[in-house]
Amino acid sequence: MSKKDYEGRNEDPQIGDPTIARVVCGMKRNMILIPKPHTTFILIQCNQCEEKKVVFSHTTADVYCKKCGAMLVKRTGSKAEILGKVINNLD
Ligand SMILES: [Zn+2]
Repeated sequence: MSKKDYEGRNEDPQIGDPTIARVVCGMKRNMILIPKPHTTFILIQCNQCEEKKVVFSHTTADVYCKKCGAMLVKRTGSKAEILGKVINNLD
């Protein structure tokens, strides 16, 4: 596989493939494309009791406050709707 072939691809390089390993080493660090998920973990705070909780950005289950029971995150088809206060994105 040539260098050009590799750059055109958008999928995971096969780990352990000596050809790809050589190509990656010859490229500048900021040019190497590494696939990353679009999902994150978010630290949110309850609007009512200020309890903090870490939730998944695409959670498939409704998240409630452990202390007061208020809904913090509402599930949707894709990215969850955050009802609490977002403090931080944990990556
Ligand atoms: Zn609460």
